[in-house]
Amino acid sequence: MTRSAERESYMIGSSDLDENDLLKIAKTIIARIYGKSSNDLLSYLIENGYIAEETLSQDTGIKSNEGRKILQYLSDEAIVVPDKVRIDGSVLHVWRLNKSALLAFVAKKLKKTKEKLELRMKYEAENTVYECPQCKRTYTLEVAFVNDFHCQYDGSLLIEETNKDIRIKTLKEAIERVEYLVKRVEQTRY
Ligand SMILES: [Zn+2]
Repeated sequence: MTRSAERESYMIGSSDLDENDLLKIAKTIIARIYGKSSNDLLSYLIENGYIAEETLSQDTGIKSNEGRKILQYLSDEAIVVPDKVRIDGSVLHVWRLNKSALLAFVAKKLKKTKEKLELRMKYEAENTVYECPQCKRTYTLEVAFVNDFHCQYDGSLLIEETNKDIRIKTLKEAIERVEYLVKRVEQTRY
C-alpha cells in the first residue's frame, strides 16, 4: 500500500467512526426534542436514505400520524426533503434524509448548549452560593437573604458553599467537550 492510499484508508476509517458518533449525537438531540419514536424513525432514515409515507408505520413501527408529525418537524429544519420514488409502477411519496442539514442542526443545538453552560458558569463564578449543611440544598444570595440565611425546608443555618471551584471546573470541562463536538460536526462534510 502506498503512503497516500494508507493515509486515505485511515481517513476513510476514521471518518466512518466520526459519522456514527455524530449520528448518535444527532439522534440523542432529536429524541430529546421530539420523543423516543423519532429515534427509530431517524435510525431507519439513516440506514435507508429515505422514508415513504405509504409504508411509514410498517417500516418503522411508529403510528403513521405520529411519524408524520416528526417528519414535519424534521422538514421544518430541512433535515428531510420531499421527493417521489416509482416502485413497481406505483409512486411513493418519500422524505429523503439531508445529512448536511442534519449536521447543521446538530451544530446549532450544540452551540445553544454551549451558550447555556457558559451563562451558568458565569453566574456561578460571579455569585456566592449558600448551602444547607442538613439537606444540601443550595441558595442564591438573594434567596438566602430573604430567608434570613436559614434553610426553607429544615431551618438549618446556611453556610457559604465550598464546592464552587469544583462545579466551575466541571462546567468548564463540559464546555470544552461541547466545543470539541461542534468543531467535529463543522469539519464533517457530506
Ligand atoms: Zn435544608
